[in-house]
Amino acid sequence: MRAAVCLHYSVGAMTAREDRVARNEATSREINERIEDAHEATSPDQYIRMVCECGQESCDRLIAITTSEYERVRSDPQRFAVVRDHVIVDVERVVDETDRFVVVAKREGGPAEVAAEEDPRS
Ligand SMILES: [Zn+2]
Repeated sequence: MRAAVCLHYSVGAMTAREDRVARNEATSREINERIEDAHEATSPDQYIRMVCECGQESCDRLIAITTSEYERVRSDPQRFAVVRDHVIVDVERVVDETDRFVVVAKREGGPAEVAAEEDPRS
């Protein structure tokens, strides 16, 4: 749809970097969905290892998180669990934190739209 494409560029909501970050985040979230599925029988209060959802291509950090904590993050498609030093302050803000990870929410605009669009549960 040409009109939508023109609108996208005139608004300039999203840089190539933001777009790449958003897509990497969507990929890490798919990985975590599978990890969670694999731990279905695990107690909701037991720590499991999930990948950091920061969206940086070089990131290979893991976070300790319980399935109940992860469910809380995932109840909002714009929220991601990341290690503390991987918060990208210009595209996301911290909404919750523990001593193991922080929860970030996408700022309004392009990245939030991609996050919703690529939500594996939608
Ligand atoms: Zn990371």
